[in-house]
Amino acid sequence: MMTEQEMEDRGLIEAGHMFRCSRAEKAHEGGEKPAVFLSENDKRRADWHGADWTDKNGVVHHMLLCPECHRKLLAIQATHQRDMYEFENEGIL
Ligand SMILES: [Zn+2]
Repeated sequence: MMTEQEMEDRGLIEAGHMFRCSRAEKAHEGGEKPAVFLSENDKRRADWHGADWTDKNGVVHHMLLCPECHRKLLAIQATHQRDMYEFENEGIL
């Protein structure tokens, strides 16, 4: 996972305090893109996560994820992990 400094370096946290989810409004329950101003010591900063992924062309994509989207990402990662494990071990298990 990315540190807050890395998120800032990538421009994901605007002006150091503005957290705006990278995903579209429609990707969220209620159809609104979460955007919150969180001061330096606000514990809710820990609920936001930077995430990188690399596409098949080797292009790295940077995202800042709100708590809702981060939960979805973890579910996708768990599914992918299970699929890859089954793929690697097909015929053995
Ligand atoms: Zn989101």
